[in-house]
Amino acid sequence: MSTKLIINNIVKDPKWKKIPCSCKKGVIMESYPVKPCIHCKCNQQNESIPSKIFIIKDKNNKDVEIKTITLVNGSLDDCIGWNF
Ligand SMILES: [Zn+2]
Repeated sequence: MSTKLIINNIVKDPKWKKIPCSCKKGVIMESYPVKPCIHCKCNQQNESIPSKIFIIKDKNNKDVEIKTITLVNGSLDDCIGWNF
């Protein structure tokens, strides 16, 4: 059985990927998250999207398997959240 999560609403060529990273590599004070960087912020949001089926508890404390999620995208096609 596959454990791969089905993700709806993925943007293939998101706008945020075209915004260059403005961090100074190796310099913490000039890198995200100390310094605001749209590219790194969106990238971090992107990496927080789950890729495998996961289990949550419903209001009756029963395990519910989540097999599909739908992304909520921001104005730069960045992932600002997801629903299931
Ligand atoms: Zn950056």
